[in-house]
Amino acid sequence: MTYNPQNIFAKILRSEIPCDKVFENDHVLAFKDITPKAPTHILVIPKGYYTDVLDFGARASKEEITAFSRAIAKIAKAENLESEGFRSITNTGLNGGQEVPHYHMHLLGGKKLGAMVCENSTGQLNLPDDAQ
Ligand code: AMP
Repeated sequence: MTYNPQNIFAKILRSEIPCDKVFENDHVLAFKDITPKAPTHILVIPKGYYTDVLDFGARASKEEITAFSRAIAKIAKAENLESEGFRSITNTGLNGGQEVPHYHMHLLGGKKLGAMVCENSTGQLNLPDDAQ
């Protein structure tokens, strides 16, 4: 998939639209999801333009990959997700239900999240209702 620089997260990275930022360094930005599916719902994105986890794994530098993993650990600690546990999800492509074509990881926590996936009435895989 070719990267589309008009996607919403690219606009956030260029400060064309606002976000509720929780973390930033040279390689990573993290902000609150606009429609949270759990009491804590944070999106972690690389600042580089990568469409999904496959693109990130193939093209990102070691420095970017390390920075992304370290940022997740720092954010989990800062947001009090570490002690009670949390879920990290990366949706990829059509079957994964990826809506925004800029690689991102969801960090969800603040309550017990139940089953990992369930089917809604359209047969699509979603977080279970009790995760909201
Ligand atoms: P995905 O379905 O994995 O691509 O997830 C995209 C996520 O981006 C969804 O959970 C949306 O609620 C979230 N989202 C979309 N627009 C914004 C925005 N402007 N600020 C924060 N989160 C957003």
